[in-house]
Amino acid sequence: MKVVIVGTGYVGLVTGACLAEVGTSVTCVDVDAAKIARLQKGVLPIYEPGLPEMVMRNQASGRLSFTTSLASALPGAEVVFIAVGTPPGEDGSADLKYVLQVAHEVGQHMEHYLLLVTKSTVPVGTAARVNRAVKESLSARQLIIDYDVASNPEFLKEGAAVNDFLKPDRIVAGVSTTHAREVLEQLYRPFVLNGHPLLFMDIASAEMTKYAANAMLATRISYMNDIANVCTLVGADINQVRKGIGSDPRIGKHFLYPGIGYGGSCFPKDVKALIQTGREYGYQLRILEAVEAVNEDQKKILSDKVLRHFDGDIKGRTFAVWGLSFKPNTDDMREAPSLVLINSLLEAGAQVRVYDPVAMEEALHVLGDSVVFADDMYAAATGADAVLLVTEWNAFRMPDWPRLRSLLQIPLLFDGRNIYDDVQLVKHGFIYYGIGNTAAT
Ligand code: NAD
Repeated sequence: MKVVIVGTGYVGLVTGACLAEVGTSVTCVDVDAAKIARLQKGVLPIYEPGLPEMVMRNQASGRLSFTTSLASALPGAEVVFIAVGTPPGEDGSADLKYVLQVAHEVGQHMEHYLLLVTKSTVPVGTAARVNRAVKESLSARQLIIDYDVASNPEFLKEGAAVNDFLKPDRIVAGVSTTHAREVLEQLYRPFVLNGHPLLFMDIASAEMTKYAANAMLATRISYMNDIANVCTLVGADINQVRKGIGSDPRIGKHFLYPGIGYGGSCFPKDVKALIQTGREYGYQLRILEAVEAVNEDQKKILSDKVLRHFDGDIKGRTFAVWGLSFKPNTDDMREAPSLVLINSLLEAGAQVRVYDPVAMEEALHVLGDSVVFADDMYAAATGADAVLLVTEWNAFRMPDWPRLRSLLQIPLLFDGRNIYDDVQLVKHGFIYYGIGNTAAT
């Protein structure tokens, strides 16, 4: 089967590489000519474990290719995936301009039957708009060509995207014709052979499923952050509470970690977009409004603790920030909580030294020369007044405590992800602050 993927970001590139890996012939298309030129040379625009090898392997075998020309990719293709960005518009709703642009362009160039599949996260009703866009373009060409539109939202996690795509918890496919269903069944057959479910449903439900899933995950995070903050006040320890509640299978142990708020390119925008969808239909999603509000406050929790420790005055002090990406194993800096923290420290007159194992280049685009980029985690800490752990990369999990202590001006550590053992740290002579416990509150 020949497939075209439009958009070579985290989703498009992983989808393209993984489909090629199982024998599909894939052409990836992007409007970003520089990105395509680099991909053609085997240089990836993103950090994603396992992806470079897979892209190179499939490029070499001729099953995966890259182009800026959608028109040249369409002949012979059976399926076109739309995997372009859907950033938030001014009112929080998903901006569909890139998705609809692609749909129009497909209609301008298609010569035979195609199944158009939205893989981007898009609100209910988008498939109908994609349908109209294709129809308009075909009418302008005075052509009638058969096509189907389907919804196939993507659930991969950055940092584990390849594995998630190859071994999906589930594949959700919204279809309205038997033919569309059969094509997707055939395409995904290699991925579901080992019992991974392929769930067919109507298109609106598929579109909604993606938002409902992300909003539920964001809700768990904000809920745990809320409970963590109460734990601090009442003298309980969220780490113990987390284990206590996570043992109940109705709750489950995953995704119960408090921290400094969710970020990234999906949760913030998808929660906003779902709230906005509710508004458009006259319904107020009150839980999600609270989820957002809690998250905004939580992003300030570490800088508040720092300010409280120094009695509100951190002018001239230096802080080492460990971790910049919004989560480990990615270089994605979109909506990273580290940025809110760093801005608060800078605004209060402090200097900031940062280190991240992978996201330094991405962070440089955003932070410029407002901070110092250190060569490693210890260089960031040298002479600093405290270390602030922001992203729980493995590299930060077992520091050389005596070395760190000797490098710091003050043996002070703010742990935004609760990855350290407060008792052990106090033994090493550190003052330790975590999230949702009573250690040095
Ligand atoms: P991204 O920003 O990394 O990549 C989008 C790509 O689309 C860019 O390379 C851009 O140049 C390209 N593009 C834009 N308009 C185009 C056009 N007209 N023709 C060709 N290419 C075009 O985005 P992403 O993170 O891969 O996300 C894509 C979609 O998937 C979004 O809707 C997102 O919400 C959803 N999603 C993302 C993730 C994730 O973890 N990043 C997970 C699941 C779903």
